Amino acid sequence: MTRTVAVLNQKGGVGKSTTVINLAAYLAKGGHKMLVVDIDPQGNTTSGLGLDKPALNATLYDVLFSRAEAPKVMQKATSHKLHVLPANEQLAGAEVEMVSVPAREFMLKRVLENLPASHDYVLIDCPPSLGLLSVNALAAADHVLIPVQAEYYALEGLSQLLSVVQQVKAAVNPDLNVLGVILTMYDNRNSLSEQVKKELEQYFGEKMFQTIIPRNVRLAEAPSFGRTIAEHDKWSKGARAYKALAREFERRIR
Ligand code: ATP
Ligand code: MG
Repeated sequence: MTRTVAVLNQKGGVGKSTTVINLAAYLAKGGHKMLVVDIDPQGNTTSGLGLDKPALNATLYDVLFSRAEAPKVMQKATSHKLHVLPANEQLAGAEVEMVSVPAREFMLKRVLENLPASHDYVLIDCPPSLGLLSVNALAAADHVLIPVQAEYYALEGLSQLLSVVQQVKAAVNPDLNVLGVILTMYDNRNSLSEQVKKELEQYFGEKMFQTIIPRNVRLAEAPSFGRTIAEHDKWSKGARAYKALAREFERRIR
């Protein structure tokens, strides 16, 4: 059985792509067959996993509009048992084009349903918005994972995010579940980080992942080499955190 997880926060730069790349890497290392779907026109996950965006012949954009077949567009990430449905800036026009498509919320779901069922987990990296691309991710997902950056205003926008999740649940995907909230870029020298952690714990309780992702420069530099943190510096704090996150993910998703 394939479990599909949308990684979503409409706030930009909170660690969605970093989480998708490195969680997928450690789940793959743990023996799971992984598919990463990049539904963000920025394509950060695509390049972060070592794919050359300008050189792509076809992307998720072509697959969504039935102009290419998913298995042909799917790529292997450089050094892991990990498949990627890549994206680039082509996808930026998709939301406008989608508006005139019947059942436009289900375009990604249809793509994933028609794949050979060969993956244990599908992780979807969403853009920083609650538009049709993110709604497509939510409609196709069993679970939502919400990275939250340990910073001032961290909780701002979260009630809007949860309300969109509720709307999608009510209208198109009744089984959609919030798997949890992950605190990212945590800095233990900064009392603000601790304060944000306490507030999130109050708000989300059991939904908070125990594993906290620290602010770690190795995590920030890895994508510029097209490497996951497991390849870039597996002994770094960031690597150890994402490895622990993968184990906690396995326990929680059961
Ligand atoms: P967007 O909303 O634009 O898609 P995002 O939510 O996907 O952004 P990332 O791209 O993962 O966020 O992270 C934003 C920036 O912060 C990137 O430069 C990334 O390398 C850096 N970063 C992410 N996580 C960490 C971390 N734990 N420590 C240090 N830097 C990090
Ligand atoms: Mg991103």
